[in-house]
Amino acid sequence: MEEIQALRGTRDILPDEVDYWQAIEAVVRQILARAVYKEIRPPIIEQTSLFERGIGEATDVVAKEMYTFTTRGDRSITLRPEGTAGVVRAFISNKLYAQGGVQRLWYQGSMFRYERPQAGRQRQFHQIGLELLGSDAPRADVEVIALATDILQTLGLKSLKLELNSVGTAEDRQNYREALVNYLTPYQNDLDKDSQERLTRNPLRILDSKDPKTKEIARNAPKIIDSLGKESRTHFDRVLQLLRDLEIKYVINHCLVRGLDYYTHTAFEMVSDELGAQATVCGGGRYDGLVAELGGPDTQAVGWAIGMERLVLLLQKLQAAPSEAPEFYLVSRGDRAEAQGLVLAQKLRGAGLKVELDLSGSAFGKQFKRADRSNAFACLVLGEAEAEKGTVNLKWLSSGEQQTLSQSELLATIEELKLKISQLKT
Ligand code: ATP
Ligand code: MG
Repeated sequence: MEEIQALRGTRDILPDEVDYWQAIEAVVRQILARAVYKEIRPPIIEQTSLFERGIGEATDVVAKEMYTFTTRGDRSITLRPEGTAGVVRAFISNKLYAQGGVQRLWYQGSMFRYERPQAGRQRQFHQIGLELLGSDAPRADVEVIALATDILQTLGLKSLKLELNSVGTAEDRQNYREALVNYLTPYQNDLDKDSQERLTRNPLRILDSKDPKTKEIARNAPKIIDSLGKESRTHFDRVLQLLRDLEIKYVINHCLVRGLDYYTHTAFEMVSDELGAQATVCGGGRYDGLVAELGGPDTQAVGWAIGMERLVLLLQKLQAAPSEAPEFYLVSRGDRAEAQGLVLAQKLRGAGLKVELDLSGSAFGKQFKRADRSNAFACLVLGEAEAEKGTVNLKWLSSGEQQTLSQSELLATIEELKLKISQLKT
Protein backbone atom coordinates (compact mmCIF):
# COMPACT_ATOMS: atom_id res chain seq x y z
CA MET A 1 0.00 0.00 0.00
CA GLU A 2 1.13 3.53 -0.66
CA GLU A 3 2.91 5.11 2.27
CA ILE A 4 1.48 8.29 3.77
CA GLN A 5 4.03 11.07 4.21
CA ALA A 6 4.06 13.89 6.74
CA LEU A 7 2.95 17.21 5.23
CA ARG A 8 5.60 19.46 3.72
CA GLY A 9 6.93 21.88 6.31
CA THR A 10 5.96 19.65 9.23
CA ARG A 11 8.20 17.14 10.95
CA ASP A 12 8.13 14.48 13.59
CA ILE A 13 10.08 15.38 16.67
CA LEU A 14 11.54 12.01 17.53
CA PRO A 15 12.36 10.90 21.08
CA ASP A 16 16.09 11.73 20.87
CA GLU A 17 15.24 15.27 19.88
CA VAL A 18 12.45 15.57 22.45
CA ASP A 19 15.18 15.31 25.11
CA TYR A 20 16.41 18.72 23.94
CA TRP A 21 12.91 20.17 23.91
CA GLN A 22 12.27 19.05 27.45
CA ALA A 23 15.59 20.42 28.63
CA ILE A 24 14.69 23.81 27.12
CA GLU A 25 11.20 23.74 28.61
CA ALA A 26 12.57 22.94 32.05
CA VAL A 27 14.95 25.90 31.94
CA VAL A 28 12.21 28.22 30.68
CA ARG A 29 9.78 27.13 33.38
CA GLN A 30 12.31 27.65 36.12
CA ILE A 31 13.60 31.02 34.98
CA LEU A 32 10.16 32.45 34.23
CA ALA A 33 8.68 31.16 37.47
CA ARG A 34 11.37 33.01 39.41
CA ALA A 35 10.29 36.22 37.71
CA VAL A 36 6.63 35.42 38.51
CA TYR A 37 5.46 34.75 34.96
CA LYS A 38 2.43 32.44 34.65
CA GLU A 39 1.75 30.10 31.78
CA ILE A 40 -1.34 30.73 29.64
CA ARG A 41 -2.75 28.34 27.03
CA PRO A 42 -4.98 30.06 24.47
CA PRO A 43 -6.52 28.07 21.59
CA ILE A 44 -4.63 27.30 18.40
CA ILE A 45 -7.51 28.45 16.18
CA GLU A 46 -8.93 31.96 16.29
CA GLN A 47 -11.14 34.17 14.16
CA THR A 48 -9.18 35.33 11.12
CA SER A 49 -9.92 38.97 11.94
CA LEU A 50 -7.90 38.69 15.16
CA PHE A 51 -4.72 38.27 13.14
CA GLU A 52 -5.74 40.70 10.39
CA ARG A 53 -6.21 43.40 13.00
CA GLY A 54 -3.56 42.31 15.44
CA ILE A 55 -0.69 41.67 13.06
CA GLY A 56 -1.65 43.94 10.18
CA GLU A 57 -2.99 43.13 6.74
CA ALA A 58 0.08 44.53 5.00
CA THR A 59 2.46 42.12 6.73
CA ASP A 60 3.78 39.00 5.01
CA VAL A 61 2.36 36.87 7.79
CA VAL A 62 -1.21 38.00 7.12
CA ALA A 63 -0.96 38.63 3.41
CA LYS A 64 0.81 35.42 2.41
CA GLU A 65 1.46 33.00 5.21
CA MET A 66 -1.75 32.25 7.09
CA TYR A 67 -3.57 28.94 7.17
CA THR A 68 -7.09 30.28 6.82
CA PHE A 69 -10.21 28.32 6.04
CA THR A 70 -13.95 28.48 6.24
CA THR A 71 -15.63 26.22 8.78
CA ARG A 72 -18.84 24.26 8.29
CA GLY A 73 -20.51 27.10 10.14
CA ASP A 74 -19.27 29.49 7.42
CA ARG A 75 -16.82 31.34 9.63
CA SER A 76 -13.30 32.32 8.58
CA ILE A 77 -10.85 30.91 11.06
CA THR A 78 -7.04 30.77 11.10
CA LEU A 79 -4.42 28.53 12.66
CA ARG A 80 -2.40 30.91 14.79
CA PRO A 81 0.73 32.15 13.02
CA GLU A 82 2.14 33.61 16.26
CA GLY A 83 1.25 33.78 19.92
CA THR A 84 0.86 37.42 20.91
CA ALA A 85 -2.50 38.15 19.26
CA GLY A 86 -4.12 35.17 21.00
CA VAL A 87 -2.66 36.05 24.40
CA VAL A 88 -3.87 39.63 24.05
CA ARG A 89 -7.30 38.41 22.94
CA ALA A 90 -7.42 36.18 26.03
CA PHE A 91 -6.29 39.10 28.20
CA ILE A 92 -9.23 41.12 26.88
CA SER A 93 -11.88 38.34 26.72
CA ASN A 94 -11.18 37.26 30.29
CA LYS A 95 -10.74 40.81 31.58
CA LEU A 96 -7.37 39.99 33.06
CA TYR A 97 -6.76 43.74 33.12
CA ALA A 98 -9.48 44.04 35.79
CA GLN A 99 -6.99 42.66 38.33
CA GLY A 100 -5.04 45.86 37.81
CA GLY A 101 -1.29 46.17 37.76
CA VAL A 102 0.92 44.10 35.54
CA GLN A 103 0.18 40.71 33.96
CA ARG A 104 3.19 38.55 33.29
CA LEU A 105 2.27 35.67 30.98
CA TRP A 106 4.10 33.06 28.95
CA TYR A 107 3.02 30.44 26.43
CA GLN A 108 4.37 27.67 24.29
CA GLY A 109 3.07 25.72 21.35
CA SER A 110 2.68 25.20 17.64
CA MET A 111 2.41 28.08 15.18
CA PHE A 112 1.54 27.78 11.49
CA ARG A 113 2.78 29.78 8.54
CA TYR A 114 2.65 28.85 4.89
CA GLU A 115 6.31 29.46 4.09
CA ARG A 116 8.94 27.84 1.93
CA PRO A 117 10.35 25.12 4.20
CA GLN A 118 14.11 25.01 4.81
CA ALA A 119 16.44 24.43 7.75
CA GLY A 120 15.01 26.35 10.72
CA ARG A 121 11.90 27.36 8.76
CA GLN A 122 8.80 25.23 8.77
CA ARG A 123 5.08 25.49 8.22
CA GLN A 124 4.27 24.07 11.63
CA PHE A 125 6.84 25.36 14.08
CA HIS A 126 6.95 26.03 17.79
CA GLN A 127 7.51 29.06 19.94
CA ILE A 128 7.94 29.81 23.57
CA GLY A 129 6.97 33.38 24.22
CA LEU A 130 6.18 35.80 26.97
CA GLU A 131 4.15 38.96 27.33
CA LEU A 132 4.39 41.60 30.03
CA LEU A 133 1.16 43.61 29.90
CA GLY A 134 0.37 46.83 31.72
CA SER A 135 3.67 48.69 31.93
CA ASP A 136 5.29 51.32 29.76
CA ALA A 137 8.44 51.42 31.90
CA PRO A 138 11.74 50.94 30.08
CA ARG A 139 12.50 48.53 32.91
CA ALA A 140 9.78 46.24 31.55
CA ASP A 141 11.52 46.12 28.15
CA VAL A 142 14.77 45.31 29.88
CA GLU A 143 13.23 42.72 32.20
CA VAL A 144 11.96 40.70 29.26
CA ILE A 145 15.22 41.02 27.36
CA ALA A 146 17.14 39.95 30.46
CA LEU A 147 14.93 36.88 30.84
CA ALA A 148 15.50 35.79 27.25
CA THR A 149 19.23 36.33 27.73
CA ASP A 150 19.15 34.33 30.93
CA ILE A 151 17.30 31.41 29.32
CA LEU A 152 19.65 31.26 26.35
CA GLN A 153 22.77 31.56 28.46
CA THR A 154 21.60 28.94 30.95
CA LEU A 155 21.16 26.61 27.99
CA GLY A 156 24.80 27.20 27.16
CA LEU A 157 24.40 29.61 24.23
CA LYS A 158 26.95 32.28 24.98
CA SER A 159 27.57 33.67 21.51
CA LEU A 160 24.15 35.02 20.60
CA LYS A 161 24.09 38.65 19.61
CA LEU A 162 21.39 40.99 20.94
CA GLU A 163 20.36 43.46 18.25
CA LEU A 164 18.21 46.37 19.19
CA ASN A 165 16.40 49.29 17.65
CA SER A 166 13.57 51.67 18.43
CA VAL A 167 10.66 52.04 16.04
CA GLY A 168 9.20 54.88 18.12
CA THR A 169 5.51 55.73 18.14
CA ALA A 170 3.09 55.59 15.22
CA GLU A 171 3.68 59.32 14.76
CA ASP A 172 7.48 58.93 14.72
CA ARG A 173 7.06 56.21 12.15
CA GLN A 174 4.86 58.40 9.98
CA ASN A 175 7.66 60.99 9.84
CA TYR A 176 10.24 58.35 9.20
CA ARG A 177 8.18 56.68 6.52
CA GLU A 178 8.31 59.87 4.47
CA ALA A 179 12.06 60.22 4.81
CA LEU A 180 12.53 56.57 3.92
CA VAL A 181 10.30 56.64 0.85
CA ASN A 182 12.11 59.75 -0.38
CA TYR A 183 15.40 57.97 -0.03
CA LEU A 184 14.26 54.69 -1.60
CA THR A 185 12.23 55.98 -4.55
CA PRO A 186 15.25 56.70 -6.81
CA TYR A 187 16.40 53.07 -6.22
CA GLN A 188 12.96 51.67 -6.92
CA ASN A 189 14.00 49.51 -9.87
CA ASP A 190 16.99 48.02 -8.02
CA LEU A 191 14.88 46.71 -5.14
CA ASP A 192 13.70 43.11 -5.05
CA LYS A 193 10.15 42.51 -6.22
CA ASP A 194 8.59 42.24 -2.77
CA SER A 195 10.29 45.43 -1.67
CA GLN A 196 9.04 47.32 -4.73
CA GLU A 197 5.53 46.41 -3.65
CA ARG A 198 6.25 47.42 -0.07
CA LEU A 199 7.41 50.85 -1.11
CA THR A 200 3.80 52.02 -1.03
CA ARG A 201 2.22 49.46 1.30
CA ASN A 202 4.73 48.99 4.11
CA PRO A 203 8.07 50.69 3.33
CA LEU A 204 9.65 50.03 6.75
CA ARG A 205 9.63 46.34 6.01
CA ILE A 206 12.04 46.97 3.13
CA LEU A 207 14.70 47.52 5.78
CA ASP A 208 14.66 43.87 6.82
CA SER A 209 14.51 42.42 3.32
CA LYS A 210 16.76 39.40 2.94
CA ASP A 211 17.68 40.27 -0.66
CA PRO A 212 21.41 41.21 -0.87
CA LYS A 213 20.97 44.13 -3.25
CA THR A 214 18.08 45.60 -1.27
CA LYS A 215 20.10 45.15 1.91
CA GLU A 216 22.95 47.11 0.36
CA ILE A 217 20.59 49.96 -0.50
CA ALA A 218 18.95 49.85 2.93
CA ARG A 219 22.32 50.15 4.64
CA ASN A 220 22.60 53.84 3.73
CA ALA A 221 18.95 54.71 4.33
CA PRO A 222 18.07 57.39 6.87
CA LYS A 223 17.95 55.95 10.37
CA ILE A 224 14.69 55.64 12.26
CA ILE A 225 16.26 56.73 15.53
CA ASP A 226 16.91 60.12 13.92
CA SER A 227 13.14 60.49 13.43
CA LEU A 228 12.23 59.73 17.03
CA GLY A 229 10.45 62.36 19.07
CA LYS A 230 11.82 63.37 22.46
CA GLU A 231 9.80 60.86 24.49
CA SER A 232 10.71 57.94 22.27
CA ARG A 233 14.35 58.92 22.40
CA THR A 234 14.28 59.13 26.21
CA HIS A 235 12.64 55.71 26.44
CA PHE A 236 15.25 54.17 24.16
CA ASP A 237 18.20 55.77 25.94
CA ARG A 238 16.91 54.51 29.27
CA VAL A 239 16.56 50.98 27.89
CA LEU A 240 20.15 51.09 26.67
CA GLN A 241 21.37 52.41 30.01
CA LEU A 242 19.58 49.65 31.93
CA LEU A 243 21.03 47.01 29.64
CA ARG A 244 24.48 48.33 30.43
CA ASP A 245 23.63 48.25 34.15
CA LEU A 246 22.84 44.56 33.74
CA GLU A 247 25.99 44.07 31.67
CA ILE A 248 23.96 42.78 28.75
CA LYS A 249 25.84 43.45 25.54
CA TYR A 250 23.91 44.79 22.57
CA VAL A 251 24.41 46.27 19.15
CA ILE A 252 22.05 48.76 17.56
CA ASN A 253 20.72 47.54 14.24
CA HIS A 254 19.12 50.42 12.39
CA CYS A 255 17.45 48.03 9.94
CA LEU A 256 15.67 46.05 12.63
CA VAL A 257 11.98 46.86 12.34
CA ARG A 258 10.28 43.51 13.02
CA GLY A 259 7.68 42.09 10.68
CA LEU A 260 4.59 42.97 12.63
CA ASP A 261 2.73 46.27 12.64
CA TYR A 262 1.89 46.56 16.31
CA TYR A 263 5.39 47.15 17.61
CA THR A 264 6.31 50.49 19.20
CA HIS A 265 9.57 51.70 20.72
CA THR A 266 11.96 48.85 21.49
CA ALA A 267 12.41 46.11 18.90
CA PHE A 268 14.99 43.41 19.39
CA GLU A 269 16.27 40.09 18.10
CA MET A 270 18.77 37.55 19.29
CA VAL A 271 20.82 36.31 16.43
CA SER A 272 23.21 33.41 15.99
CA ASP A 273 25.90 33.23 13.35
CA GLU A 274 25.56 29.45 13.22
CA LEU A 275 22.12 29.15 11.66
CA GLY A 276 22.75 30.41 8.13
CA ALA A 277 19.87 32.44 6.73
CA GLN A 278 17.50 31.54 9.57
CA ALA A 279 19.64 33.33 12.14
CA THR A 280 17.09 34.82 14.50
CA VAL A 281 16.36 32.68 17.54
CA CYS A 282 14.33 35.21 19.51
CA GLY A 283 12.40 38.24 18.37
CA GLY A 284 10.36 40.70 20.33
CA GLY A 285 9.58 44.20 21.33
CA ARG A 286 7.11 46.63 22.71
CA TYR A 287 3.57 46.77 21.35
CA ASP A 288 1.77 49.59 23.12
CA GLY A 289 -0.98 49.86 20.51
CA LEU A 290 -2.18 46.29 20.26
CA VAL A 291 -4.49 45.83 23.25
CA ALA A 292 -6.54 48.92 22.34
CA GLU A 293 -6.48 47.92 18.67
CA LEU A 294 -8.13 44.63 19.63
CA GLY A 295 -10.83 46.34 21.68
CA GLY A 296 -9.26 46.29 25.14
CA PRO A 297 -8.39 49.21 27.41
CA ASP A 298 -5.24 51.18 26.64
CA THR A 299 -2.51 48.85 27.86
CA GLN A 300 1.19 49.10 27.15
CA ALA A 301 3.01 45.84 26.69
CA VAL A 302 6.24 44.18 25.70
CA GLY A 303 7.15 40.59 24.85
CA TRP A 304 9.17 38.16 22.79
CA ALA A 305 9.04 34.76 21.14
CA ILE A 306 11.78 32.18 20.84
CA GLY A 307 11.73 29.84 17.84
CA MET A 308 12.11 26.37 19.32
CA GLU A 309 13.33 24.60 16.17
CA ARG A 310 16.18 27.06 15.73
CA LEU A 311 17.09 26.84 19.38
CA VAL A 312 17.14 23.04 19.21
CA LEU A 313 19.38 23.18 16.11
CA LEU A 314 21.83 25.33 18.07
CA LEU A 315 21.78 23.08 21.12
CA GLN A 316 22.36 20.01 18.97
CA LYS A 317 25.49 21.72 17.62
CA LEU A 318 26.66 22.17 21.20
CA GLN A 319 26.19 18.42 21.76
CA ALA A 320 24.60 19.11 25.10
CA ALA A 321 22.41 16.02 24.74
CA PRO A 322 20.76 15.20 28.06
CA SER A 323 21.31 11.58 29.11
CA GLU A 324 18.28 9.35 28.85
CA ALA A 325 19.80 6.02 29.90
CA PRO A 326 17.81 3.77 32.23
CA GLU A 327 19.20 3.08 35.69
CA PHE A 328 18.43 -0.64 35.55
CA TYR A 329 18.05 -3.01 32.63
CA LEU A 330 16.08 -6.10 33.54
CA VAL A 331 16.83 -9.34 31.75
CA SER A 332 14.67 -12.43 32.22
CA ARG A 333 13.92 -15.70 30.49
CA GLY A 334 11.32 -18.41 31.09
CA ASP A 335 7.65 -17.94 32.03
CA ARG A 336 8.10 -17.75 35.76
CA ALA A 337 11.16 -15.53 35.63
CA GLU A 338 9.52 -13.20 33.12
CA ALA A 339 6.45 -12.80 35.32
CA GLN A 340 8.59 -12.10 38.40
CA GLY A 341 10.73 -9.70 36.37
CA LEU A 342 7.70 -7.70 35.33
CA VAL A 343 6.50 -7.46 38.93
CA LEU A 344 9.98 -6.47 40.15
CA ALA A 345 10.33 -3.79 37.45
CA GLN A 346 6.99 -2.25 38.44
CA LYS A 347 8.01 -2.23 42.11
CA LEU A 348 11.35 -0.59 41.38
CA ARG A 349 9.65 2.01 39.17
CA GLY A 350 7.14 2.64 41.93
CA ALA A 351 10.08 3.39 44.21
CA GLY A 352 11.38 5.99 41.75
CA LEU A 353 13.94 4.03 39.77
CA LYS A 354 14.13 4.08 36.01
CA VAL A 355 13.91 0.52 34.74
CA GLU A 356 13.94 -0.84 31.20
CA LEU A 357 12.42 -4.27 30.79
CA ASP A 358 13.73 -6.55 28.05
CA LEU A 359 10.64 -8.05 26.42
CA SER A 360 12.36 -10.21 23.81
CA GLY A 361 12.47 -13.54 25.60
CA SER A 362 15.62 -14.22 23.57
CA ALA A 363 18.80 -15.95 24.75
CA PHE A 364 20.55 -14.32 27.73
CA GLY A 365 23.58 -13.42 25.60
CA LYS A 366 21.44 -11.28 23.30
CA GLN A 367 19.67 -9.62 26.19
CA PHE A 368 23.00 -8.82 27.88
CA LYS A 369 24.19 -7.12 24.69
CA ARG A 370 21.14 -4.91 24.72
CA ALA A 371 21.71 -4.16 28.40
CA ASP A 372 25.21 -2.90 27.52
CA ARG A 373 23.89 -0.81 24.66
CA SER A 374 21.23 0.78 26.87
CA ASN A 375 23.98 2.41 28.97
CA ALA A 376 22.15 1.38 32.12
CA PHE A 377 24.11 1.46 35.38
CA ALA A 378 23.17 -2.06 36.36
CA CYS A 379 21.60 -5.17 34.96
CA LEU A 380 19.10 -7.29 36.87
CA VAL A 381 18.99 -10.94 35.81
CA LEU A 382 16.22 -13.42 36.45
CA GLY A 383 16.52 -16.96 35.07
CA GLU A 384 14.72 -20.16 36.02
CA ALA A 385 17.11 -20.76 38.95
CA GLU A 386 16.50 -17.26 40.41
CA ALA A 387 12.75 -17.54 39.89
CA GLU A 388 12.74 -20.86 41.74
CA LYS A 389 14.41 -19.29 44.79
CA GLY A 390 12.87 -15.81 44.56
CA THR A 391 16.26 -14.22 44.05
CA VAL A 392 17.72 -11.88 41.46
CA ASN A 393 21.23 -11.27 40.17
CA LEU A 394 22.41 -7.66 40.29
CA LYS A 395 25.36 -6.74 38.09
CA TRP A 396 26.92 -3.27 37.96
CA LEU A 397 27.87 -2.77 34.36
CA SER A 398 30.81 -0.40 34.80
CA SER A 399 32.73 -2.55 37.31
CA GLY A 400 31.35 -6.01 36.55
CA GLU A 401 30.79 -6.43 40.27
CA GLN A 402 27.79 -8.68 40.97
CA GLN A 403 25.79 -10.39 43.70
CA THR A 404 22.72 -12.55 44.02
CA LEU A 405 20.19 -11.49 46.60
CA SER A 406 16.57 -12.17 47.36
CA GLN A 407 14.09 -9.98 45.52
CA SER A 408 12.72 -8.66 48.80
CA GLU A 409 16.24 -7.78 49.91
CA LEU A 410 16.74 -5.84 46.71
CA LEU A 411 13.57 -3.88 47.37
CA ALA A 412 14.63 -3.26 50.96
CA THR A 413 17.94 -1.72 49.85
CA ILE A 414 16.50 0.74 47.34
CA GLU A 415 17.85 3.80 49.13
CA GLU A 416 21.38 2.40 48.97
CA LEU A 417 20.93 1.58 45.29
CA LYS A 418 19.82 5.14 44.58
CA LEU A 419 22.79 6.53 46.45
CA LYS A 420 25.19 4.33 44.52
CA ILE A 421 23.60 5.38 41.21
CA SER A 422 23.77 9.06 42.03
CA GLN A 423 27.48 8.61 42.84
CA LEU A 424 28.04 6.84 39.53
CA LYS A 425 26.25 9.67 37.71
CA THR A 426 28.66 12.33 38.93
P1 ATP B 1 11.99 35.40 10.03
O1 ATP B 1 12.48 36.76 9.69
O2 ATP B 1 13.08 34.41 10.27
O3 ATP B 1 10.92 34.92 9.10
P2 ATP B 1 9.98 36.43 11.77
O4 ATP B 1 10.31 37.85 11.93
O5 ATP B 1 8.92 36.04 10.80
O6 ATP B 1 11.30 35.58 11.46
P3 ATP B 1 8.74 36.26 14.37
O7 ATP B 1 7.37 36.40 13.86
O8 ATP B 1 9.36 37.38 15.10
O9 ATP B 1 9.69 35.78 13.18
O10 ATP B 1 8.83 34.95 15.28
C1 ATP B 1 9.78 34.82 16.36
C2 ATP B 1 10.71 33.66 16.14
O11 ATP B 1 10.00 32.50 15.75
C3 ATP B 1 11.70 33.85 15.03
O12 ATP B 1 12.79 34.60 15.45
C4 ATP B 1 12.09 32.44 14.71
O13 ATP B 1 13.05 31.96 15.62
C5 ATP B 1 10.80 31.70 14.89
N1 ATP B 1 10.13 31.48 13.60
C6 ATP B 1 9.38 32.35 12.88
N2 ATP B 1 8.91 31.77 11.77
C7 ATP B 1 9.36 30.49 11.78
C8 ATP B 1 9.20 29.35 10.90
N3 ATP B 1 8.47 29.43 9.80
N4 ATP B 1 9.82 28.20 11.24
C9 ATP B 1 10.57 28.12 12.36
N5 ATP B 1 10.74 29.12 13.23
C10 ATP B 1 10.16 30.30 12.94
MG1 MG C 1 8.92 35.32 8.85
